[in-house]
Amino acid sequence: MSIIIFIVSFAFAFCLGSIIEWFVHKDLMHSIQWMKTPHQRHAVEHHAERKAPGKYYAKADELKEYHLFETSFMPALWILHAPLFFAAYYFFGLASGIGVAAGTGAYVIGYEVLHWYMHCPDEFIFRNTRWFQFISEHHRLHHNKASINYNVVFPLGDWLLGTYYTELPIDREPEDVRNNAPLPPQREKQI
Ligand SMILES: [Zn+2]
Ligand SMILES: [Zn+2]
Repeated sequence: MSIIIFIVSFAFAFCLGSIIEWFVHKDLMHSIQWMKTPHQRHAVEHHAERKAPGKYYAKADELKEYHLFETSFMPALWILHAPLFFAAYYFFGLASGIGVAAGTGAYVIGYEVLHWYMHCPDEFIFRNTRWFQFISEHHRLHHNKASINYNVVFPLGDWLLGTYYTELPIDREPEDVRNNAPLPPQREKQI
């Protein structure tokens, strides 16, 4: 029984993570309404450095280095979720509290890891999986048009809140053309 409560709590927290990511990305990282630093690091610096098409992939080795905690405020955000873990624990028991903590934690780690790999042009184990091609293309379109596709990990928030786009008439990245990389699933339909 407690494993089912854990799984349901995990799934709920993961879906909630998508909604929170949408608002954080839109209202903190693309707005100066509340704070200036996330906007500067993300909307100004990250989007200028990784404009798509053309600059989506990091070029120089030093740009590919991973800077934990610099890319986003997501790890700090996980700590801010703590009242939610305790609320789940209080109302639904320990399995639920751990499920919510694990679900939000998995989302935060997913954001950090996937976002890093999306902008890395090297070969890695899941580069050519359809799932990764799909989610990376989803984010690449955001780097062309910053008012769409706010989700990086799981596009539920984009879908529910009306910013879900699968197609824009933009060129592929030169690295993908050169490497003859498979077309992302969204683009296969256009042929
Ligand atoms: Zn953005
Ligand atoms: Zn990005």
